[in-house]
Order: sequence, then structure tokens, then C-alpha cells
Amino acid sequence: MSNAMIINGKEIGQEIRQSVAEQVSKLKNQGVTPGLAVILVGDNPASQTYVRNKQKSCEAIGIYSELIKLPKEVSEDELLAQIRFLNNSESIHGILVQLPLPEHINEDKVIATISPEKDVDGFSPVSVGKMMLGQETYLPCTPFGVMKLLEYAKVDIAGKHAVIVGRSHIVGKPMGQLLLQKDATVTYTHSKTPDLPSITKQADIIVAAVGRPNFITKEHVKPGAVVIDVGINRDENNKLIGDVDFAEVEQVASHITPVPGGVGPMTITMLLYNTVQSARKTLLQDK
Ligand code: NDP
Repeated sequence: MSNAMIINGKEIGQEIRQSVAEQVSKLKNQGVTPGLAVILVGDNPASQTYVRNKQKSCEAIGIYSELIKLPKEVSEDELLAQIRFLNNSESIHGILVQLPLPEHINEDKVIATISPEKDVDGFSPVSVGKMMLGQETYLPCTPFGVMKLLEYAKVDIAGKHAVIVGRSHIVGKPMGQLLLQKDATVTYTHSKTPDLPSITKQADIIVAAVGRPNFITKEHVKPGAVVIDVGINRDENNKLIGDVDFAEVEQVASHITPVPGGVGPMTITMLLYNTVQSARKTLLQDK
């Protein structure tokens, strides 16, 4: 029996993309075509798929997308020079470097070189600092997407206890910050947290960003909790599954996101959103 309301990221993502597409056509009427540059280093197949999806999504709503493919032997200096060139390019409003990068390249240095005005992934130290301070900036797309899911599903956040499982720079850490800004009481957990279920059981909202299939079970969840599954894993049949044991947890949760079709579609949606906001800003600056 299913009890939980399923938060449909595919539908919510579509709705947001539609309004972003409307903004794109308005911008085009004013002479600005939003542009996103994606830098792909090497030939990692997963990265190639992610990049292709991002490009397709851009094209579907009229954003100009430019793919810069660099060989895996590219030097760090060449990559940094490419980013600096894009920082100054008028046709590009968002720059994204697909991670991971080859080992000889310092990822932190690369990300810090992206102009904060074009950091639509929200990963640079300036963007992260501004987010922490609650200042206007580009929010990292996955946690930003989760906030949109909660908003569309009308989940109350203020005063609720949110437990984040995972503390990566791109998901867990910023996720907790965004929930804190909406007045949740936030607990971070990670691989060194003893007795995880005793903590997640206290949560009104659980966000799982671990990268382990079916890791969050019924034993981790208080009846009526909202469960957001960021995980993307493959099972033995190569089928996509999340970090949450959906079949089990949907029987106790009040709301749950499926995998696929939950958080996944929101990440690219918010990337498109951020890129268009960046393009809009150039118009304001021209005035
Ligand atoms: P990371 O591997 O960077 O981080 C995983 C986190 O999980 C770490 O903080 C780690 O703790 C924690 N962890 C590992 N084992 C345990 C455990 N036993 N108990 C509690 N915490 C544990 O992953 P990401 O944050 O990048 O991604 C997480 C998942 O989300 C992955 O499946 C990824 O594919 C997916 N993802 C999905 C996106 C989307 O668009 N939907 C976007 C980005 C990621 P510690 O820090 O101590 O090592």
C-alpha cells in the first residue's frame, strides 16, 4: 500500500522550464540570447552523457549552448585560459566545467577561475560564500532544485528538523544551508556518524545524498516524514535507483521523491534557470 505523496520532479521541472523558456523568448525580443558554455575535458562516458543532456535541454528552450571539448592531456594553464576567454565573452552568460577533471588539473583552481557572474553551477568560493551569507548569488543546482520541489509540494520548512545524509560540497553542505535559511533546524550526518537511524528517525525532512543504493530504509524514517532522494545509483540490471528504499519508505513517509523522476530533472532545470537569470542581469547592466 502506498501512503506517501510522490513529488514528481519531472512535472515540476517541466513547469519551471516552461517559465524559463518564456523568459528566454522575452530576452531574445530584447536582443539577448542566453548562452551557456560547457567545458568537457577528456572522454569520460558518464560526463559525455551529462553534457549531452545539458545541451539538449538548453536547445529545447532556446538557450545557445557551446560545447568546448578539450583532450584529457590539456594543461591546466590552457584550461584556465579557456575559462578566462569565456569570462569575457559577451555571448556566454553561464560557464560550467564538467567534473571530474583529470588528476593533473587542480579542480579548485579551475572553479575559482570562473567569473562569479557566470558561475551558474554555484560552485566557486565566491558563490558558496555569498550563499552562506544569504546574499544574492547562483545557488548550486541540485540543492536549489530540492528547495523548488519542497516549495511546489507545499512542504513547510520553518521550524522543522531537517537531517541531511551526506556532506559533499555539491549536495549535502549547501542543502543544509538552504534549509537553514528557510528556518529549518538542520543536522548534518556523514560516514562517521554513529547510529544513523537514531538521528534520521528524528527528522521531519530527510535529504539522502550518499551514493549508496537503497541505503535509507523504513528503519531510518519517522512516520510522516518528507523524504528527498538525491542519490543516483545503478543496480545489477543497470537500472537507476536512489539512496532510498522507495518501496519500503513510501509506506511510512508523507512525501517522497522517486528515482528517476524526482531530484534528477531538477538539477538541469535550475542550471537553465540560473543561466537565464545571468543573461537578464546583462540587460539590466546595459541600462
Ligand atoms: P559524495 O560521494 O561526494 O558524498 C557522499 C556523502 O555520503 C559523503 O559526505 C559521505 O560521508 C556520506 N556517506 C557515505 N557513507 C555514509 C554512511 N554510511 N552514512 C552516512 N553518510 C555516508 O556524493 P555526492 O554528494 O556528490 O552525491 C551523492 C549522491 O547523489 C550520488 O548518488 C550522486 O550520484 C547523486 N547526485 C545526484 C544529483 C542529481 O542531479 N540528482 C547531483 C549530484 C549528485 P563522508 O563525507 O564522511 O565521506
